[in-house]
Amino acid sequence: MSNDAAVIGAGPNGLAAAITLARAGRSVVVYERAETVGGSARSSELTLPGYLHDVCSAAHPMAVAGEFFNSMPLHEHGLEWIRPEFPVAHLLPEQDAVIQHTDLEETAREVNDLAYAAELRPFLDRFSDLLRNGTAPPGLPENPVLMARFGLRAMIPATTLARLLFKTERGQALFAGHACHSCLPLSQSPSAAIGLMLQLAAHAVNFPMPKGGAGRITTAMASYLESLGGRIECGVDIGHINQVDAEQVFFCTSPRDMVRIAGDLLPSNYVSRLSKFKRGPGVFKVDYALKEPIPWSDPRVARAGTVHLAGTIEQLAASEATVAQGGHTDAPFVLLTQPTQFDTTRAPEGGHIAWAYVHVPNGSTLDQTQALEAQIERYAPGFGDVVLQRHTMNCAQMEAYNPNYVGGDVNGGANTLDQLFTRPIAALSPYCTPNPRIFLCSASVPPGGGVHGLGGFNAVRAAGIV
Ligand SMILES: Cc1cc2nc3c(=O)[nH]c(=O)nc-3n(C[C@H](O)[C@H](O)[C@H](O)COP(=O)(O)OP(=O)(O)OC[C@H]3O[C@@H](n4cnc5c(N)ncnc54)[C@H](O)[C@@H]3O)c2cc1C
Repeated sequence: MSNDAAVIGAGPNGLAAAITLARAGRSVVVYERAETVGGSARSSELTLPGYLHDVCSAAHPMAVAGEFFNSMPLHEHGLEWIRPEFPVAHLLPEQDAVIQHTDLEETAREVNDLAYAAELRPFLDRFSDLLRNGTAPPGLPENPVLMARFGLRAMIPATTLARLLFKTERGQALFAGHACHSCLPLSQSPSAAIGLMLQLAAHAVNFPMPKGGAGRITTAMASYLESLGGRIECGVDIGHINQVDAEQVFFCTSPRDMVRIAGDLLPSNYVSRLSKFKRGPGVFKVDYALKEPIPWSDPRVARAGTVHLAGTIEQLAASEATVAQGGHTDAPFVLLTQPTQFDTTRAPEGGHIAWAYVHVPNGSTLDQTQALEAQIERYAPGFGDVVLQRHTMNCAQMEAYNPNYVGGDVNGGANTLDQLFTRPIAALSPYCTPNPRIFLCSASVPPGGGVHGLGGFNAVRAAGIV
């Protein structure tokens, strides 16, 4: 074999695995089926020339807050983070938006509940410990008391925890918006764990976006990898492990594709257990080229990078429950970002872009543009008049773009309690397979979806290399 290790897939986790291997002195090659690196952190002119959209990930608190990302000198490879004035705005019908400030006390005033700050302060003060423990490979936590205190809250379903922690409709809605990122019904655990972690991250580090778009994260990682001696081969779609020239192989793919590529080297009982891996809902996504900023009724919303649209905790719980039951809703939770409010490099002078998606049942091909835009119009009347062009992606198109998103599931697998620490299957190490040559390192291993690189880093640790 001419390489010590190969990685299949140049997403954030695949590149993180390759960087960790190269730092450990291993010769490593990354194979990527697309013509460019990036996986789900890529930017592209999806609508009109000069309008640079994020094809998938858009806001990156877990990258900015994480120790692994901070260990890489990515600023030397072109990555510059932009922090919006406000991390998040949560929109509620017939009242001012709830603005989440990085400052706890200011946010407490925003939600009319001074206890808000008291509830979150103990965890915010230990946020880096919390994040390190929460995203480490399954096992005994390094800070058990902290994790037990967090777990006592985080394992309660979001709808219940919201009422226990936050006294006002505004505070509960803000938390519920974060919990919707779990893609779970809010009445189900661990929706609150994911919600709390993101809410704390927004206070700790904001919801930053790379200048020039999410693609800058992975082009910087690729450049850093090459500076360490790693090689990347784009335009190589690995269909069988025989194509791979390396002693160890790290799969930044779905478990399904790992089986397609290397199934004949894996025992049938393991393959059969992998086939039971549960998928989460999909997304329907729309990117907009705009001739003007979004005309929000509450002008402060223009100063937030990320916007949660869809109202009260009851409304959010209802929309997420409908999707979990396989339905579509006319009043979906809309996750929206508006990067050109803070980064003028991403549109021609005066122009703007917006990125938005709603949750839909896994595999749905129903066009949800109307439902999504009705939500935006509700809080920004006249939105339709500022749209120059739109680009839509349903679940099938999402999977065609990147096969890791099976049925449009953007988290690489359902975030259910039984799959939180044991994805893709319950085993001593989720990163290892029964074949000592083969490892899984994508978002389908802990800590799951998101741009943090920890699936890759943890897999190389599990291989005993670092
Ligand atoms: C619409 C959407 C919005 C998102 N928003 C956010 C967000 O705002 N913030 C955030 O932190 N996260 C977000 N995420 C999640 C995040 O992007 C992913 O969890 C993360 O990119 C997963 O990284 P990965 O390296 O595991 O895989 P991916 O990024 O999916 O990369 C996998 C790579 O492997 C390649 N590949 C697959 N099979 C093969 C093969 N057989 N041969 C060669 N190459 C192969 C693919 O082409 C792809 O490039 C979003 C995801 C989506 C889809």
